[in-house]
Amino acid sequence: MAVALDNTYAAGIMFDAFVHDVDVSIQALTKYVGGHSDLLLGSVSARNQQAYENLGPVYRQLGLAVSPDDCSLALRGLQTLAVRLEQLEKSTLQIAEWLTNHSKIETVFHPALPTCPGHEHWKRDFSGSTSVFSFLFKDNITPAQVETFIDSLELFYIGLSWGGVNSLAVVYPDVERPGKDHSGKLVRLKIGLEQAEDLVTDLENALAKC
Ligand SMILES: *Cc1c(COP(=O)(O)O)cnc(C)c1O
Repeated sequence: MAVALDNTYAAGIMFDAFVHDVDVSIQALTKYVGGHSDLLLGSVSARNQQAYENLGPVYRQLGLAVSPDDCSLALRGLQTLAVRLEQLEKSTLQIAEWLTNHSKIETVFHPALPTCPGHEHWKRDFSGSTSVFSFLFKDNITPAQVETFIDSLELFYIGLSWGGVNSLAVVYPDVERPGKDHSGKLVRLKIGLEQAEDLVTDLENALAKC
């Protein structure tokens, strides 16, 4: 049996897929490698010759090809990936930790926080964390209040993609898990390269308004 993994969260760095017996590691280079929200590209890395041969001619049959311009943007992004990831990890942890103490917030789902479900797996397998995480508002906060929160943010843009320099926020309108309904109360943040203190102030102001 072959194992394939989407390693985008870890930027291919914070989780060593091949050491963990993954055969094929996939990344959306659109995110951290591109780093500036202007690239649409992916990579497929095979662990060894056998895994490579198992992929067969699929990519050619699907007509997948990349342009030299896109490749040059990815190569340029790689030159600053290390410094961006270091900064993003630090800012994101600072903001996630700040959110854990807020009276309107129930849980912060950042894998490096000991209070996050699944933290022990992250601790066992990852060498660091990156800049996307989510948090859940308390039960008494309505989806309309969560919308007010999002609309009150000034530094965070509303957006789904991530890995660029700007911070983004988005509400999950429809999230049901067994025995739980987080619809309209779960917010995903993507921290960018702005000053962490400014982002905390922005969150603080928006949380006060909702
Ligand atoms: C964005 C994303 C993708 C898809 O990448 P695109 O380049 O936008 O098509 C795949 N996996 C993960 C985890 C992503 O965040």
